[in-house]
Amino acid sequence: MVVVKYDNSMSSILRQWKGRGIVSLCLLLLTAVVAEAKLTVSTLNPILTDLVEEIGGEYVEILEVMPPGSDVHTFQPRAKEVILIQKSTLIFAMGKGIETYLPGLRDSLLEGQEIIPVGRSVPSMKVDADPLYVCCPAHARGAIDPHWWHSVKNIERAVKVIGKALEKADPEHKSYYKERVSVARAKYRSLHNWVKSEVSKIPKKQRVLVTAHVAFAYFCREYGFEAKYLQGLSKESEISAKHLAETIQELKGRKINAIFPEQLANPKMLSQIAKEIGAKIGKPLYADDTPGSYEKLIRHNVNSIVSALQ
Ligand SMILES: [Zn+2]
Ligand SMILES: [Zn+2]
Repeated sequence: MVVVKYDNSMSSILRQWKGRGIVSLCLLLLTAVVAEAKLTVSTLNPILTDLVEEIGGEYVEILEVMPPGSDVHTFQPRAKEVILIQKSTLIFAMGKGIETYLPGLRDSLLEGQEIIPVGRSVPSMKVDADPLYVCCPAHARGAIDPHWWHSVKNIERAVKVIGKALEKADPEHKSYYKERVSVARAKYRSLHNWVKSEVSKIPKKQRVLVTAHVAFAYFCREYGFEAKYLQGLSKESEISAKHLAETIQELKGRKINAIFPEQLANPKMLSQIAKEIGAKIGKPLYADDTPGSYEKLIRHNVNSIVSALQ
């Protein structure tokens, strides 16, 4: 992952290279000039850092805005992050409303800066969970479901959006970006096919994904799962005894093999429900966070789902 720290001011370069010879100094200054010619972009999500690095390669300098471990639903850029964003020509956002602060951020942009909501070419789904789980007030029933990246098909779409934005901002390296987009698209097509072949190991009747967070609707639609959500298992709310009994009753009737916690939210209640309905607890899934690369995220989630439901 590229996380750039700014420390290439001329004075620090001069201090460092004092007495090392004029040739070395000239070479270093030349490198600094070339480095400054890179296109500077910000990423508002670690998944985007991975994808933009994949397409932008050596011509793009990435400023990662969201500190690791932040909750994508509640993160708000503070003054120091806004300053970072203001250093970039392009700002890559996931879009579909996951960055609830985007309208406000637009007002603080400088001339020539552009926000690229990378999920914009993905057909939207709405949050229609019943029973309802609310991950944050912005994503209640009826809102656009922002978790589009859990379908690998959508990542292939996103890679095209990233490539087009880089080509437009840095036309000098157009063919370089085009080539990397086509390599990445081939990679995500084969990852998508891998998911399909893994999922086919689960008998059709058992393709029910029970989670606590309404994050997997795009995954479920793409790969033929029924999505089920446990109400009240959010970080904020407590489940009521009545709802717990109803949920257990419903899941018992469905002969569910496993239910899945998440990496960031791992409620104790889940193990109680699992015990009651005679299901396993699957390995925690990545819903909003990522293990470092998109490919790792998908492989982890799919392996966890397939091994528990097979
Ligand atoms: Zn939310
Ligand atoms: Zn989420």
